[in-house]
Amino acid sequence: MEKDRSTAQEFPRKMGHQLGGILQSGGRLSAQQVCDYMTSLEIDLETLMVMMLPFAAELSIAPISHFSVGAVAASINQDGSATLYLGANMEFQKSPLSSSLHAEQAAINHAWLHGESSIDFLATSAAPCGYCRQFLNELHRSEQLQILLPSDNEEQPWTTETLGSLLPNAFGPLHLGVKDRLLAPPSSPCHLQLHHSQSNDPVIQSALQAASLSYAPYVIGASSITNKTCSPAYAGVALQTEDGEIYCGRHAMNAAHNPSLSPLQSALSFMKMSHPSTSFQTITRCVLVETPTLVSQKQITESILSSIAPELGLEYYLTDSPSEGEK
Ligand SMILES: [Zn+2]
Repeated sequence: MEKDRSTAQEFPRKMGHQLGGILQSGGRLSAQQVCDYMTSLEIDLETLMVMMLPFAAELSIAPISHFSVGAVAASINQDGSATLYLGANMEFQKSPLSSSLHAEQAAINHAWLHGESSIDFLATSAAPCGYCRQFLNELHRSEQLQILLPSDNEEQPWTTETLGSLLPNAFGPLHLGVKDRLLAPPSSPCHLQLHHSQSNDPVIQSALQAASLSYAPYVIGASSITNKTCSPAYAGVALQTEDGEIYCGRHAMNAAHNPSLSPLQSALSFMKMSHPSTSFQTITRCVLVETPTLVSQKQITESILSSIAPELGLEYYLTDSPSEGEK
């Protein structure tokens, strides 16, 4: 981490001030901003990404480990320009350690909720743990992903690895016969409806929409309501804050189960990355919408919610099971 701090100090003061401003309005650098920084500093994309890592790590919430991790994901646009998305780790007191969100997940989630369909480069301030390597293996075009890792070489403070080199003999979606990938447009769009309920409430509708956009390619168990046998675990969360803003999060499943992202983790991380100065204390509503399957996000959502907003009750809705034709 010390090395990252010194890298940050190498930023010319003027650019540092500008970056501070960017973090106030959200940890995303548009293609134009990326181009401007690369031109002004006379650096390439990889160098800019590594220089951004300490700023990403400043968005960390790590009251348990006190170990701040930053990640920067780059999506290359069709014209060759790049958009950058920052991510940082997030921990929840009084919840299981397994509810911690890792910086790599945060950066990928940030790009996903901005509508990106692939990640081409990912820089991290610490080597990705095994859990994150498995999470990255779920990505669309993961075999082309370039991962920039810190190194001890002063001349070249990072090394570039492929996911294949970091996770050889990987277990992944194809072993379960799944061709969909995280961030790629789904092979079958999902249309969900609330079960026995209609609501025009914008927060509920936002959670329903987030659920329909979640990554749930693995069919799990039987529906408890309709007895249909194929029911993917779609789940979405919408948070509303005092100022009326709505932040959504989506379930992202994983072939190996454990590195899956819960919709509340997704929403809280996106909120932190989009509006770093907005406190979780300002959340006034939390709505979870999910399909009825053998797995549920209700327990982990309540657990994390009790950590960040103990007074807030979870609003919970089930959907009808999507028909098999829609999966
Ligand atoms: Zn990790």
